[in-house]
Formats: sequence, C-alpha cells, structure tokens
Amino acid sequence: MKYNTKNYDYLIVGAGPFGTTFAHEAAKRGKRSLVIEKRTHVGGNTYTHKENGINVHDYGAHIFHTDNKMVWDYVNQFTEFNCYINQVVADYKGELYNLPFNMNTFYQMWGGKTPEEAAAKIEEQKAAAGISSSAKNLEEQAISLIGTDIYSKLIKGYTEKQWGRKAPELPAFIIRRLPVRFTFDNNYFNHRYQGVPIDGYTSIFERMLDSELIDLQTNMDFLADKVSYMEEFPKIVYTGMIDAFFGYKYGELEYRSVRFESESFESENIQGNAVINYTDAEIPFTRLMEWRHFDQKADKGKTILTKEYPQDWDRTKEAYYPVNDARNSSLFKFYREEADKLRKIIFGGRLGNYQYYDMDQVFGAALKAVEKEFGK
Ligand code: UDP
Repeated sequence: MKYNTKNYDYLIVGAGPFGTTFAHEAAKRGKRSLVIEKRTHVGGNTYTHKENGINVHDYGAHIFHTDNKMVWDYVNQFTEFNCYINQVVADYKGELYNLPFNMNTFYQMWGGKTPEEAAAKIEEQKAAAGISSSAKNLEEQAISLIGTDIYSKLIKGYTEKQWGRKAPELPAFIIRRLPVRFTFDNNYFNHRYQGVPIDGYTSIFERMLDSELIDLQTNMDFLADKVSYMEEFPKIVYTGMIDAFFGYKYGELEYRSVRFESESFESENIQGNAVINYTDAEIPFTRLMEWRHFDQKADKGKTILTKEYPQDWDRTKEAYYPVNDARNSSLFKFYREEADKLRKIIFGGRLGNYQYYDMDQVFGAALKAVEKEFGK
C-alpha cells in the first residue's frame, strides 16, 4: 500500500496535543504532513463533544492550567478560555471536605482556625507515625505533608482504587501534584493561568489542523502497517505507546486505565460542583463530574453526570496513566535508548514518553521538539 502519495515531509501518528502542534508548526514552515489517528476523532484524551449545550469531556475532566506564559499564549491563539477555577470537593463516607489540602480542609478535619494550629497537628501526626523528612513512597510522602487523618480519609482509599495498588508501592511524586497550603484557598492548582475552552477542546485541534499542508486520516492504525509507513516517510512523529512501537520487545510497560458511565437528568444542578471525589475505598468510582459546572454558561434544562471508574489496563483498553514506579521506569529506559537510536522518529506525548504529563507540558514539549527540528 502506498501512503506517501503527496510526498509528505512528515507522518504524524496521533492527533493529540503533541502531534497536532507539530503538524501545525510544520505547516507554518511550508512542510506537508499526513496525520493518522487510530480513533475516530482528533484531540486525544482532551476530546470533548457537545450534548444539550454542555461540553462533555469524553476521557475525563480536563482543566488547562499552566505557569508557562508561552504555552498559554500559544493555546489561546486557537480558543478562548473561560475563567473556571477547579475547586474539588471530597466526599468521605458522607463527610464533605474541600480539596486540595488547605485551611478549609484542616478546619473541617480538626476544627482549628489558624495555620499554626494546623501545622502543629500535622507535625504531631507525622511524628507519631515515625515519618522522617525523606519520603520513600506515596504513603510516607502524604503523611509527611498532611498527617495521618487526612491521609486515611482523603488519600489512601482514593489512591489505592485509582492505581490498583497499595500506597507504599507508589512513587511519592504522584501526591505532590496536589498543593498543600495554609490559606483558605480551594484552587486545585497553583498555576497562574487556568480555564476550560468555552467551545470545548476539540475545536482547538480542528483549527490547528485546518491547513492545505495537512491531511488527516482517522481510524488509521500505524502499528498495523508499521513497516510500510517506516519505509515511505522521511520523518515520523510518533505519539502512541513507546513499548507498543517496539513490539513490547523488553516487556510491557504498565498503564492504568479508566472507564466512564454517564447519565443525563432533567435538572440544572445535581451535585453543585464540577467534580466531587469519592475518597473511601468501598465506592468503586473515584470522581463524579457534572459537566455543566465547567462551562459556566451551559444551556438551561439538562445536566449530564459522569462517574469515573479506575480499571486495570490491558491491550484492549485505552492507556491513560503511565505507572512510573521503579520497575517501569527502568524498563522505559531500555525503550528510550532504543528510541534515541532511531533518528527519523520523534517520540512525544504522554504515551510516547511514558510520562505523567499535563496538557500544558505536552504543548510545551511539542514546541521544544519543533524548535529542535526547525531551529528558533
Ligand atoms: N489524590 C487523592 N485523593 C483525592 C485526589 C487525588 O489521594 O481526592 C491523589 C491520588 O493518588 C491521585 C493523585 O493524588 O492519583 C493525583 O491527583 P490528580 O487529581 O492530579 O490526578 P489526575 O487528575 O491526573 O487523575
């Protein structure tokens, strides 16, 4: 089969943020790309569709947040963001707490009103648990940051169902994604820029790919015909799973998957917040999203709620999260070394780099790859 019918300069595998940014920037420089995408749509896991005037995020809640002004300005060329600030509520056996861990949480948990009281409580619990300052895993890291009460009510159950393994077996960095602050501030992120695109994420990617120099083919699986693609294209940007690219020759990297169950209701407000986390171990889902609360100006009349259930990953499921523990990190190094030898292939994105990237980091990495390829 002939694929490079138009003398494309690049084959781009995957129409998520990395591949799309690369294709867009290549087109700006007069380079022609064929973008192939396994799914039926662009945008990768950021994909949203509109239902009853509400933007539904098909692969889980995506809130854009960054400190990187260059990335923020870049994405703002293709969309307008609302001023949504993520403020998550946690439900532990019917008790409600504000997240991330802040003075509201500490007050709800312990009743103290001052930062000093909260800090003393955390110190006391940390000392009683015998945790030193250098945390070796997620459990130790969590207790050393916010003490045993919050760890056992808001972290342990959620984390263990989210990752399908015990908290002491998980890397500490995962819990450091969440801010801990001694102010009454429920903003889930510490970043300067934050929002959700007013018309959803998908249109960002449609606009970026709208070029005479870019062709898009959906429902197209690179790995099903890897040899021909590799022969025909001078350069390839690959954003799929790195271990799959190499036929899992060193073994499978582990991923965590999730599945979603949605329901719509004749109501405008069921849970009063965009995201409620269910942090006890017994409830099988981790998060419940009510999409209209992300939009700020959703149409009236209906609401759509989606439950997020973590699940084990296997090759028939979507890979959402890399599991960056010691075993997988050392396995990934073998693949990385192999990838570095292939000069005509650029590996990118969460799956191509096996990194727990946020959206802004993927855009940032893609712009770096563009700079490396074309110069400043
Ligand atoms: N986490 C938790 N309780 C919560 C929310 C998060 O213990 O209510 C932990 C959990 O281990 C999770 C990690 O913090 O995997 C990072 O959370 P984040 O919301 O950043 O995860 P993501 O949105 O990427 O799934």
